[in-house]
Amino acid sequence: MRALGMTKGPMMRVLMVAPPGAGKGTQGAVIATHFGIPHIATGDLLRDHVARRTPLGQAVQAHLDQGELVPDEIVLDMVREALADAAATGGGYVLDGVPRTMAQARATYQIGLELGMTADVALHLKADDRELERRLLARAALEGRSDDTEETIRRRLRVYHELTHPIVAWYGDRGIFVTVDAMRPADQVGREILAALEVMRSFVHRSPDQPRRAVDLSGLGAAFGELPAPTP
Ligand code: ADP
Repeated sequence: MRALGMTKGPMMRVLMVAPPGAGKGTQGAVIATHFGIPHIATGDLLRDHVARRTPLGQAVQAHLDQGELVPDEIVLDMVREALADAAATGGGYVLDGVPRTMAQARATYQIGLELGMTADVALHLKADDRELERRLLARAALEGRSDDTEETIRRRLRVYHELTHPIVAWYGDRGIFVTVDAMRPADQVGREILAALEVMRSFVHRSPDQPRRAVDLSGLGAAFGELPAPTP
């Protein structure tokens, strides 16, 4: 079998939908390195503004500290700018941290349409709340992120369940949805993600001139052992 080199083959456009603590940052970096695409993490971009005390940083700091979502227009401007940059560097990307609401999902799709670079895959990392809380509290001790306190972690998980998780069904309907069990060690999760994305890559770029058809990957998990099927 021919090995797929990092820059060979068609590029990938991935967005991640995952609760806090599931490993978006870690796996986003793995995906970016493997496919040679930029890793666009809205949380990192926002924290960078806060650290540099820019006007935008000052406007969003309280939202971040309290574990609440920052206003859509701020995040969507960032996404538009980052995707425009990505267009100039080959067109691939892995988006980490957006979309977080149904409105953001629609807006991100719209931006993708305008730039001719809608996502090929929506990747869902699945983990239960107890494990997520455990990881975030462990990280708090190491990194001291202002939103990794017990109360704020609970709020972020609540925001995820109420606002973010429902968009998973929408991606299921668009036929670009893949779910991976993120309860296991990070290197194992990373390998499964890359295997799943390589399968997706061969699907989505088979007929680039045809309108995208929905692809039902709900049975894909079987290829990787005990992966659960995507929740409808
Ligand atoms: P986590 O997923 O662990 O909460 P992130 O770094 O993705 O970490 O996000 C940290 C914070 O940044 C969020 O709690 C929120 O305040 C803000 N944020 C990031 N992305 C978005 C977004 N798409 N919409 C609104 N707020 C966002």
